[in-house]
Amino acid sequence: MIRIKGVKKSFGDLKVLNNINLEIPQSNVSAIIGPSGAGKSTLIRAVNALEDIDSGEIIVDGVSVHDKKTNINKIRTEIGFVFQSFNLYPFLTALENVTIASINVKKTDKAEAIERGRELLSSLGLEDKFHSYPSKLSGGQQQRVAIARALAMDPKVMLFDEPTSALDPEMIKEVLDAIRKLAKSGMTMMVVTHEMGFAKEMCDQIVFMADGSIIEVAPPKTFFTNPVSPRAQDFLSKVL
Ligand code: ATP
Ligand code: MG
Repeated sequence: MIRIKGVKKSFGDLKVLNNINLEIPQSNVSAIIGPSGAGKSTLIRAVNALEDIDSGEIIVDGVSVHDKKTNINKIRTEIGFVFQSFNLYPFLTALENVTIASINVKKTDKAEAIERGRELLSSLGLEDKFHSYPSKLSGGQQQRVAIARALAMDPKVMLFDEPTSALDPEMIKEVLDAIRKLAKSGMTMMVVTHEMGFAKEMCDQIVFMADGSIIEVAPPKTFFTNPVSPRAQDFLSKVL
């Protein structure tokens, strides 16, 4: 589970996270939504320490991520992160992209890592792309390789920051389907998304952020039919 307690963060004079408190229980899928500049990416990046925080605490599976004593490299292997841009190694095949970190960082036996990599790619519909280089894959396929790469580390939680916003419309579904499948498997997930349909149908809770604060946390049905705050009402009137 992910526990965010009193987290504050500024960039210079700009307060980007303003006392954020949030709990994402085991196997819960939370959608983080809100207008541009709300602090969504900063928050999700802080969860695996890609971003420092000024105060507060973030605990993932019992480990305090920003504690000086915490081994950040170990934490990062336990927290899968999928970005908008896929960031695959261009000179490695799909299968090599998926296995390289488990072989080099986790020291998994090579044959075992390859078998697991094949399984993961197959489960994401990429059984015929093991040996393709990223430049020969569509955006949706590259993003599925990126998801397989994160899963290859056997993460305890998965974080997604707008995983479909760089994709052409016809590829969005295949990536959302992959995320959906993961959600059904019981993975704990935090998903920053502009896909309101996905958030509504797939997520256990909606976290609405604006101006560096969490304004509203509610089950999707409640949030989308009956948003309480004027900020959320205004946001929904623009996106739905
Ligand atoms: P979007 O929906 O556009 O991705 P967001 O909710 O993810 O927006 P963030 O990227 O978290 O927003 O940014 C929050 C605020 O922090 C913005 O005002 C942004 O300009 C600012 N910001 C983000 N990163 C930095 C940085 N490295 N240095 C200075 N300001 C930053
Ligand atoms: Mg963002």
